Formats: sequence, structure tokens, C-alpha cells
Amino acid sequence: MPAPVAVVKLFENTLPQLEHTLSTRFGKGAFHANALYREVFRNGNLVPFNIPEFTNSPKLTKALEPLVQIDTGRVVHTLSEAHLIKFVTRLSDGVEIESVIIPMTDYYTLCVSCQAGCRMGCRFCETGNMGFARSLSCEEIVGQVFNARHVLKVPVKNVVFMGMGEPFDNFDAVIQAIRVMHEQRGFDIALRHITISTAGLTRGIERFARLDLPQVKLAVSIHAACNEKRSKIMPINRHMPLEAIKKALLTVPLTARGTFLFEYVLIRDFNDSRQDAEMLARYIHPLKVRLNLMTHNPIQGFEGRPVSEAHMHRFGDWLRDEGVFVIKRWGKGTGVSAGCGQLARNMKQKKMSCG
Ligand code: SF4
Repeated sequence: MPAPVAVVKLFENTLPQLEHTLSTRFGKGAFHANALYREVFRNGNLVPFNIPEFTNSPKLTKALEPLVQIDTGRVVHTLSEAHLIKFVTRLSDGVEIESVIIPMTDYYTLCVSCQAGCRMGCRFCETGNMGFARSLSCEEIVGQVFNARHVLKVPVKNVVFMGMGEPFDNFDAVIQAIRVMHEQRGFDIALRHITISTAGLTRGIERFARLDLPQVKLAVSIHAACNEKRSKIMPINRHMPLEAIKKALLTVPLTARGTFLFEYVLIRDFNDSRQDAEMLARYIHPLKVRLNLMTHNPIQGFEGRPVSEAHMHRFGDWLRDEGVFVIKRWGKGTGVSAGCGQLARNMKQKKMSCG
């Protein structure tokens, strides 16, 4: 029996990779690869074989058409609140994932998911509480950008890996997705406009440090600067404690003006005292960090409560007194459960294997 012919998943290929495939397998190269890229990534055409480049090459079209796979998943649901849009994509096996388009002052940021569910089990996070179904493929991650730009018609410019899942638990697919999104003749998303947010997987941080992607920003969910407290809300901390995370971060080469982004969700009477602020400042030193301070968004099954606006300002001032650069983030999208830690899809109906 002849070996099955491998399909070409367009959303998993950078332009040079596509050129290489077309050249080695079909004897065609840059011209047709560029045409495919332009039609799909730039023009949003999911049936690109009726453009002149292909209709003038009927033999090539006949060979390629059944082999090129373009699967973006299907947007089945959208919810919006004050220009923020949460959308649900149903993937080919029926699993549903959520993404959020967030309006910023003069551009849009897309918060993408990289897994359906999450293995990390952070207690304050709806995704962590729902278990883990599977990791997404590169195609399924890139498909979220396609859907934001071409289905929902929002010209997203920034991408943050802060949706469902832990990016470093799906390392290869996430990094390849970044390379595809960055492709200049495709979505052309600048590397400095991409942020990976991790719960602190040290091996992932160290692998990331060795890549050729220094402009990609790295965010770390810290949420407490003492291991005892952090382990209570982030089980991963028992295996990869704060000291190990810091050691791994010290291996990451930052660009001249680069900083890490630390995320700190304030939970009332848990991690919001002056002593917590001082410990955090000590932990941060000597790393170059911008600290995003957020208040906890209520979710079912977690008893933590948000802090008042006044207390968030006070905590921010304590950190500033210690020399920490602080940005306060006020919850966006909580009315449609699109705030930080609130993404969860009804995977309960799907088969789940909790890791
Ligand atoms: S906060 Fe992030 S890493 Fe933690 S459970 Fe939620 S999605 Fe996973």
C-alpha cells in the first residue's frame, strides 16, 4: 500500500517553510507560497485556489487543493461589553475554547488560548478549576488570530498568551504559532507585541531563554512572594518555587529596554498587606520588572475576595516606595466573564483527563 500523502497545514507553516514544502514536493516555490499566504492571512480568503496564480496552474492546483488544510475552527458564540469581545471557537473535535479581544487606547489586543483547560490548577482561575482536555495545535492557536481579524473584523495588533492554558506546557506549538503570526507577509505581528504569560514553569523559561526571540515579552503570574502562600493558590509552586523561577528568569536575555512583566492579583486579607508588598519588592530585586497589579475577579468555588479600589492604590504606593514600577489594571470584561482568570468553556460536556 502506498504511504499516505502528508497534508500541508497552512497555519503551521512560516513562509520559508511553505516555500520549501512547495518546492520539494511540487517543484514550485516562492511565487505560489506568497500567493497562498497573501490570500489567506492578508485577505482572509479560505478558498484561495481560485485566484489567478492557481487557476493558471491547473495541474498544481489539482495536486495541492486536496492536500492544503486550512482549519480555523468555527466561531460559534460572541459576547461583548464596552468594545471588548469574548469569542468562542469550536474546534474540529468539538472542543470549545475562548479568546478575548481587548480594546486598548489606540489598538486592539487579542488574548489567545493555547490549551483547552489547564493542568496548573491555580485556585483563583476558572480555567484551572475546570481541568484539562488537551493542548491546542499551532494551527488552532493561529486560527484565533485569523478569526479575530477576518471573521470578527477587528484589526488586532497585539497578542497575549493569557487565555486558557499554560503556554510552556505546550511549548513547541506556542513558539511555532508565534513564528507564523510574526511572518511579515502574513499577519505581521511584531515580536515586541507578543507576550507569553507563564505560571512559572522553570524548564519552559530556560528553553525560552535559549531561543532567538528576545523581543517577545515574558510575563510571570506571581501573586505571592512567599512560597507558603503561593503554593496555596498555585499548586505548581510546590514543584517550582519562587527561588527556582527567579533563577530561571536570570537566564533570560532581555533587550536593552526590556523588562519582565509580573502579574499580581490582589486577594483581600491574603496577599494584600504591607508585609506582602515588601516581600514582593525584595523578591523582584535585581530583576527588571513591570508589575501589573489587578484585583481578583470572583469565580465560583474560590472564596477569595477582591480588594477595594482604595486598597489597590495603597498597595501600589507601598510597592512604589520600595522602588517597584507598578501599573494598575482595572478589570475589563468581568460582566461577560472575560476578565483575568474567568475563561472557562463548557468542556464539562467533553471527555476530560485531568493532569
Ligand atoms: S492562571 Fe493560567 S496557568 Fe493558572 S490555571 Fe489559569 S490558565 Fe492555567
